[in-house]
Amino acid sequence: TRGLAEADPAVFGGVRDELKREQTQIELIASENIVSKAVLEAQGSVFTNKYAEGYPGKRYYQGCHPSDLVEQLAIDRAKELFGCAYANVQPHSGAQANGAVMLALVKPGETILGMSLDAGGHLTHGARAAMSGKWFNAIQYGVDPVTHLIDFDEVATLAREHKPKLIIAGGSAYPRQIDFAKFRAIADEVGAYFLVDMAHFAGLVAAKLHPSPFPHAHIATTTTHKTLRGPRGGMILSDDEALGKKLNSAVFPGLQGGPLMHVIAAKAVAFGEALQPGYKSYIAAVMENAKVLAATLKERGCNIVSGGTDTHLALVDLTPLGVTGKDADEALERAGITCNKNGIPGDPLPPTKTSGIRVGTPAGTTRGFGPAEFREIGNMVADVLDGLRKNGEQGDAQVEAAVRARVTLLCHRFPIYPEA
Ligand code: PLP
Repeated sequence: TRGLAEADPAVFGGVRDELKREQTQIELIASENIVSKAVLEAQGSVFTNKYAEGYPGKRYYQGCHPSDLVEQLAIDRAKELFGCAYANVQPHSGAQANGAVMLALVKPGETILGMSLDAGGHLTHGARAAMSGKWFNAIQYGVDPVTHLIDFDEVATLAREHKPKLIIAGGSAYPRQIDFAKFRAIADEVGAYFLVDMAHFAGLVAAKLHPSPFPHAHIATTTTHKTLRGPRGGMILSDDEALGKKLNSAVFPGLQGGPLMHVIAAKAVAFGEALQPGYKSYIAAVMENAKVLAATLKERGCNIVSGGTDTHLALVDLTPLGVTGKDADEALERAGITCNKNGIPGDPLPPTKTSGIRVGTPAGTTRGFGPAEFREIGNMVADVLDGLRKNGEQGDAQVEAAVRARVTLLCHRFPIYPEA
């Protein structure tokens, strides 16, 4: 019955530090967000105690009525949000969701075709270091070196040559809308399944401010914690219920054991929130803010990969400033702004260094920042980058301290979890 502070002061201290960090730093990591108190409460609930292997109405354990209720709510809300016939809300993460799709559709040694990491793809799309790259014959497409857009001639050529079983679209650092119909036409031509991994832009699809993968995709996967603003987790969607049966078996018992019912309860809450009209205005603001942030950084001398953004994120090429991604994200953290270094298309530097940073607006927009604040944030980022340009990797301590003070003020004006 003892609370965390009393029972385990060390862990309590870590949680308190994280709360303080989130309250006082500006979060530009494009894959992060700030969930509601209701989502936190559901995830911190007694569902953490429950084993519920199986699916609603078909469990391997007793005592699953409450679990059935919340999982069915999550499934029904997901189907409504994305306008599709099937949803599996059990994957523990986005990587698990993609792993389950591969388990259902591809055998080890068979061919998959996905976007390369340096073009903005994800590890689970066939990168050498990941299971998807080790167990399958993973072929990778890139982007056009000039436009930074997906090169559909290359995708078609690779598909015809290698005859993949599965073609994957979507990525972690691709700032533009993807032409799903073109991908599907290529998949149909070579007899492949077409998977859209919409982990990053799922919230934009849910808000109907971005084209839907359906009806083009056979399957869509997503994380639930990025633009969707739910708990950390994954989900698989399809409009094909027969495929759904295969996918269910791939998730459980294929890849996972007991579902994380506390996370599924929180997913249900987040999907309920995304069905409210306010969510559409939130996503519209996320997208407008991303354009403002990208434009500000461009005015201040950065290159924006592909020239801009259609989504919630921008990929910033720092080569014109002679600054690396590693030096930039470290200096920005010293100044109270969090983002991540990120490779740019054709990046000559290794992933531990990179020539770019990725910035996104989902978390900042949740705390209430609008275009004026994102213009200010863009200028603060550029001030810090200028310090690196002039002084090398140690940056300009005075500028960083001045930005830190402005960040503190801004965070104060737009508080999060004020009651905590
Ligand atoms: N797919 C894409 C496109 C992603 O960006 C990510 C996460 O960054 C994932 C999958 C993996 O999600 P997770 O980190 O939940 O495993």
